[in-house]
Amino acid sequence: MAFSMKDKNVVITGGNKGIGAGITEVFLKEGANVVFTGRDEEGGKSFEDELKEKGYNAKFFKADVTSEEDTKKLYEYAEKEMGSIDIILLNAGYFPEISLEEMSVEDWDNVIGINLKGVFLNTKEGVKYLKDGGRIVVTSSITGNRVGNSSLVHYASAKAGVNGFIKSVALDLAKKNITINGVEPGNIMTPGMENVLGERYIENQERVIPMGYLGEPEDIAYAIMFLASDEAKYITGQTIVVDGGQILPESPLEM
Ligand code: NAP
Repeated sequence: MAFSMKDKNVVITGGNKGIGAGITEVFLKEGANVVFTGRDEEGGKSFEDELKEKGYNAKFFKADVTSEEDTKKLYEYAEKEMGSIDIILLNAGYFPEISLEEMSVEDWDNVIGINLKGVFLNTKEGVKYLKDGGRIVVTSSITGNRVGNSSLVHYASAKAGVNGFIKSVALDLAKKNITINGVEPGNIMTPGMENVLGERYIENQERVIPMGYLGEPEDIAYAIMFLASDEAKYITGQTIVVDGGQILPESPLEM
């Protein structure tokens, strides 16, 4: 066992696929009860059934992270289902490639909405339910924080905003003995990676990752689990990079 999540009550946004599904399974495996969200009800329910067959206590709740109404309902539901909420994992995100030239105001608002406003809404609402020792962990990104990406200007801006949000909110929450931290994934193999960014992007990334391969959702989940553990009680306002060494080379030619 890694860090004990036994009987911890956990809410995970975007917990129905990709990195989020990895987080959901890993936390359940380590003994947590989980309410996980997404917009895709069919996929979410079928993942819930799969998890229940394995004997886990998992419930899917359909909620859009950009909706204040959905967010309020989510935390009401999660507290009713589990009795209390100990850990909130804000993972929902979206990263569609588009050049700055072609980017519309709608494209910008949509990506900032899901990746940044979603974190704001869920923290503001979710924190009302957290008690002394509560934990929030956000899935940020190396994009916007350690590296730039000219096809993801909106996304990079949102994720840089997420890190600023984490640092600033940490100051407020420290007084309540609640921590907020983030994990910055590099390139992780997920449906979003395969369907939104595609094969050519993946091949290019493999060439520049020192470890030579894309990470798995579980690699992110275990870093998140550390930050969500009782043992990480004195860490707040921080982020951990999990990227197979991608941001290390001083020059891309080294790879
Ligand atoms: P993914 O496979 O596309 O999954 C995205 C997740 O977010 C899904 O569960 C999706 O559920 C949910 N989601 C998207 N928009 C939502 C909305 N408006 N409301 C509620 N849920 C929403 O992506 P992923 O690769 O697993 O990425 C997960 C997180 O890791 C994101 O925050 C992403 O930015 C971050 N990240 C990923 C990578 C990577 O290499 N994969 C790298 C750095 C950071 P529905 O479709 O059901 O709504």
